[in-house]
Amino acid sequence: MNGTVNPKVRAAGAIFLLITLGFPCSAPASVQAIENLVGQVSQSQYQSYQLAIESCGLGLYDPSFNQGYRNRDGWAGGGTLGNQEAALYLSDIFSEMGLAVSLQGTYRNVVAELTGTVTPEKIYVLGSHYDTYGSGERPGGDDNASGTAGVLEAARVLSRYSFGNTIRFIGFNAEEDWMKGSSDYVDNAVLAENETIAGVINLDMILRPGWDSDPAEPEDLDIGTRDTAANLDWADTFITAAQTYVPSLSFDLNTPHTSRWYAGDQGPFISAGFPAIMVGDNTADEVWYDGCNAYYHSSEDASDGLANNPAYPGGVTYDYAFATDVVRTTVATLAQEAVFIPEPATASLLALCGLALLRRRQF
Ligand SMILES: [Zn+2]
Repeated sequence: MNGTVNPKVRAAGAIFLLITLGFPCSAPASVQAIENLVGQVSQSQYQSYQLAIESCGLGLYDPSFNQGYRNRDGWAGGGTLGNQEAALYLSDIFSEMGLAVSLQGTYRNVVAELTGTVTPEKIYVLGSHYDTYGSGERPGGDDNASGTAGVLEAARVLSRYSFGNTIRFIGFNAEEDWMKGSSDYVDNAVLAENETIAGVINLDMILRPGWDSDPAEPEDLDIGTRDTAANLDWADTFITAAQTYVPSLSFDLNTPHTSRWYAGDQGPFISAGFPAIMVGDNTADEVWYDGCNAYYHSSEDASDGLANNPAYPGGVTYDYAFATDVVRTTVATLAQEAVFIPEPATASLLALCGLALLRRRQF
């Protein structure tokens, strides 16, 4: 055990080990590596997350939260039972993925972190709002169980790997009270801690592309952001990732849209100077004024509330394949920008060779 080793052999082994171990941390992930990651996004898993979230408040996740309706609106007094059930569900699913989970602030934003292994202070945020609008039976299947399920499915895939930069997955609350949750997060978590956010992707309504009011309208994706270079660059990064990794996903010809950039959880981040985009099946203007989404903020915004509604014979239905493509693009964007560190299969073998050189004295 105490036999001497030729110092040159030892030095060569050590250098070889350092080079091979260091390689996967310094080289950007290949297109093939990111394609493999994107390929792990599952439509059926996305759909089961979406159905679970829109059912929060019915006690389907935990019977103690069954209040007989699905309203998750509100935050005073801790929010409705349905709202609380959604927060509990998100916390549990994120925890099962091995992420560090916390409830942040007055409005109980659910924050799950995948800490970067090289430059953790560089932070990307993937967010969605998990509350719903108003009172009554409004499950918010599209607005916004759809985006929240997208955050969960992206987190499920990404949390299996390491990244150079930090990725935070956040379920924002009280968005329907004019972004109270995300405003609180930006003010009292990000700015108060002097953090820098490198980019925000906000998924808000990704399940009903197309228009109820005009069946001829194409089923495409809209990006909303502010008309500044940093924000337009960030939008372009997302669109380019789609073109590279998810060519089946089509975008509105006029995207990115720069009006109403503030109307969503990306707004407080943009106002604070951080690049952020809203990703949705239609723009805020189209939803509010063009009748593209007849079920917006209604009790029929649910997976079981759409079939054969005589008022909208040409109306659109939930499109899980479309939403899954949005999640794939999100995963590709974050993998590329947050510096995905693929399983270094080849490098590991080389590193083992280096170790063998170091241990040669034992043979
Ligand atoms: Zn929304």
